[in-house]
Amino acid sequence: MNRGLGSLRFISGVGKKGPACFLVETNGKRLLLDLGEGPPPGAMPDVDGIGRVDALILSHGHKDHVGGLSLLPKLGNPPVYATEIVARGLRKGIAARPLPLGGRAEVLGIAVETGRNGHAPGGIWLNFAIGDGLLYTGDYATESALYAYDPPTKAAATALIDCSYADYDKPLAECWDNLAPLVERGPLLLPVPANGRGPEIALELMRHGVEDIYVDDAMRDALRRLCDSDGISLRAGAGGDIKRLADLVKPIDGARGVMLAVAADGASGAAARLLAQFEDSPEVTILFTGYLNPSTPAERLTKSGRAQSMRWNVHPRLSDTVALVRMTQAKTVIPAFCDRARLAALAAALAPARVTMDETVQI
Ligand SMILES: [Zn+2]
Repeated sequence: MNRGLGSLRFISGVGKKGPACFLVETNGKRLLLDLGEGPPPGAMPDVDGIGRVDALILSHGHKDHVGGLSLLPKLGNPPVYATEIVARGLRKGIAARPLPLGGRAEVLGIAVETGRNGHAPGGIWLNFAIGDGLLYTGDYATESALYAYDPPTKAAATALIDCSYADYDKPLAECWDNLAPLVERGPLLLPVPANGRGPEIALELMRHGVEDIYVDDAMRDALRRLCDSDGISLRAGAGGDIKRLADLVKPIDGARGVMLAVAADGASGAAARLLAQFEDSPEVTILFTGYLNPSTPAERLTKSGRAQSMRWNVHPRLSDTVALVRMTQAKTVIPAFCDRARLAALAAALAPARVTMDETVQI
């Protein structure tokens, strides 16, 4: 088993919100961590200078982490490692090698420990035995009432961590306080991702006694999978409620109740159709709860004032980031998926760890 030194290079995903793609080199082996597209549609990592890699490792199935698989031929078509749930969602023709949702595995002779990321079905963080440990969280969240989060317990001298919210530090409970009055007001359309906060918000609605919950086919299918094959990603005790929720939700049929529809930015799927239907119906409140993707209905309708937007926490708060850095005793921290302008605030909060967005880090 290797415990050699290596280097970590940020191809994309550090310094601004962008597709995840990181290159790890150790003992002559080259691993790519994630290969995403977006958030803006068509935004791909620049992999032209990378050359051949020996393996691609996927943290979870969101597009900004797996949407760039069309680039694999430029990388020598390496084997793809993913959990079974993530592998199932990949495009046809990708035969993934399995990673565990929790426990130990080996990739190209390098030991790696994984745990559930609390963010998406089948999603994991990975702690590689390279140098004194390299933790890659992918996206993660500690607060989800739905998805289980297994905190990393082993030290990692280098930590490449999800800082999508940078130094934001409000708890998820406040998100419900903001949502509740809009639910109360009347018909509410929520464009959401099916394999992320869509089912989480639906669960919170049910737990707060809301019964008029309407969903599109993609949301209904996601709820069914959570009752079945994706159930292993659930927090202990959430299984019963998810079954109750899957029985409670009804198909969207006109402007009533709370309507949850895919996709989150409103650019496709049932959400796109419903936005076209309800845009000129002022009695329907439209609410976006995630990243406002440029050049999408989410951005356009929010800018014009027709839609509202609020955050529903699906990434770590600053206090989660501080706790993770303390737990892993990380000496070097690379905050991913946030703007370079937040570097100083994060560095102050995470001292004495060295916080950097430089392109290459020795591990
Ligand atoms: Zn994600």
